[in-house]
Amino acid sequence: MLNGKVAVVTGGTRGIGYGIVKTYLDNGAIVILCGSKKETVDHALSQLKAENPDYKVEGIYPVLSCPNEIEIAFEAIKKTYGSIDILVNNAGIVARDKIYEYDMEEFRKIMDININSVFNCSQVVSSIMKEQGGGVILNTSSMVSLYGQPSGCGYPASKFAVNGITKSLARELGKDNIRVNAVSPGITYTDMMKGVPETLIKPLIAQIPLGRIGQVEDVANAFLYLASDMASYVTGIVLPVDGAARS
Ligand code: NAD
Repeated sequence: MLNGKVAVVTGGTRGIGYGIVKTYLDNGAIVILCGSKKETVDHALSQLKAENPDYKVEGIYPVLSCPNEIEIAFEAIKKTYGSIDILVNNAGIVARDKIYEYDMEEFRKIMDININSVFNCSQVVSSIMKEQGGGVILNTSSMVSLYGQPSGCGYPASKFAVNGITKSLARELGKDNIRVNAVSPGITYTDMMKGVPETLIKPLIAQIPLGRIGQVEDVANAFLYLASDMASYVTGIVLPVDGAARS
């Protein structure tokens, strides 16, 4: 579905991002995965190469919220591969701090990675995509971008902003043949979840009409569809992939 397309995936070293990287590679894309440091990027690359030595994948670790670093990194990708067809802004951090104890620095950190990086990477890639005649930008939102969450208001606030960027850029960039969409996953079974005790997981599952927690593949497949030409007339949506667990 993505034969020969060049995709950049932020937060691609583990969890949902790693699943997107693998799904894109399995569908013929060339993937540049971004992580926060060399060690985790190298680990992800060797894991992927062990699965399939023919995967066309490389890794980088620029500071996502730094315009200069992203410009240098994305220009280098364009020079090497000729284009950037797909950007997935997936890197993100979570927090559940209560408002009474919320530290402003922690709040800023969430905004920096969850919003500023999305803005920065989207801005740099937009010019590249406009020049090449089009492209696809995808963002990872969350189901809490619709309903908030009972503590840690910074995280849902950042994801509400991601939805706003998604819908606005879709309207702004449509004329340049750039589609912009988001996926809002529900609770998804990543490494982080593996340590969560059964007693906490059971009540969560009870609230999900499909009766199970989402798998990384469920989410990655939505990213595959939206990146592909199958979604050629789809832009400006936030697609829930949450088993209908929406409150
Ligand atoms: P994860 O912690 O497993 O992975 C996060 C990724 O982001 C990692 O690759 C990490 O290297 C990268 N990252 C974090 N901080 C970074 C930084 N400062 N610079 C560069 N990269 C950085 O998390 P995940 O569960 O796979 O989450 C991925 C995305 O999905 C996030 O945007 C998250 O908000 C969203 N999400 C996750 C769930 C879930 O249940 N797992 C649900 C809804 C939305």
